Amino acid sequence: MGRTVVRVGAVLVVCWLALVAGASAGWAFGSVRPVPGPVVRGYDPPEPNWLAGHRGVDLGASVGSEVRVAAPGRVSVAQVIAGRGVVTVVHGELRTSYEPVKATVRVGDQVQAGDVIGLLEAGHCPAGCLHFGLKRGAEYLDPLGDSEVRLLPESAVALARRLAAERAAAPSGGIEPPGSGVLLNPVGGRISSPFGRRFHPIFHEWRLHAGVDLHASCGTPIRAAADGVVQSVSYDSSGGHRLVIAHAGGLTTHYLHALKRYQVRKGQKVKRGQAVGLVGSTGWSTGCHLHLTTKINGRLVDPARLL
Ligand SMILES: [Zn+2]
Ligand SMILES: [Zn+2]
Repeated sequence: MGRTVVRVGAVLVVCWLALVAGASAGWAFGSVRPVPGPVVRGYDPPEPNWLAGHRGVDLGASVGSEVRVAAPGRVSVAQVIAGRGVVTVVHGELRTSYEPVKATVRVGDQVQAGDVIGLLEAGHCPAGCLHFGLKRGAEYLDPLGDSEVRLLPESAVALARRLAAERAAAPSGGIEPPGSGVLLNPVGGRISSPFGRRFHPIFHEWRLHAGVDLHASCGTPIRAAADGVVQSVSYDSSGGHRLVIAHAGGLTTHYLHALKRYQVRKGQKVKRGQAVGLVGSTGWSTGCHLHLTTKINGRLVDPARLL
């Protein structure tokens, strides 16, 4: 009993982090967050300039995650420097740098905000993170500026990661969906985090988890929960790769955090059980799972009532 409570609490923390992140402010520089994860180390410029400090911000993300450029520009560096892959992009008088990154772009390439410039490599933080820097000439700037109002405490990030690992190691945890059969369970997994309002143990606020998290390992096929038509396919920093399918009766199903682009397009008809994508951990998610939201005529309903 105690263990179950701990485990359910665990996945809730992860989801709460997702909600906190979704609510955090925009960026001082650029329109795209290079990786979706939380700020695990903030900007701490050395004073005077030659002392140790932190001339950028670290964003938590798993090794192998896609790294996206924050703003349009031209690639000026894409090479391994002192054993770590570095990509630098020039935006007028400013430059952004991304490391450690295995570059998928070349020097001279023009990039648009959100274009993938490489894949995150290990080496900067024990649990994986991107070091994101901003410079004007020789001067280092804070890429988050003053607008990042809520930095997650490091302890919260560490806790979320530990709990996500525990969740991953305990595939039989969670709640069996009741099996009403209105919707097909898209990944066949148990509910590792239920729908509803919960009191956050770290942030001490009530937050809504607007769906259920279904247990599934990375790369598991995601199946359409019912016959329908694809309403949208998109990417955003909180939901990651996001898919919405419209069904009969005003019902919509929303699938979050897929590994990569869904295999279906807007306007396409899909059949119940048809594979539409792969489970991943994009967006504000610290481990692979499927977040499923359901709405009827635009109003949230608990997916567990339909599964
Ligand atoms: Zn760093
Ligand atoms: Zn969720």
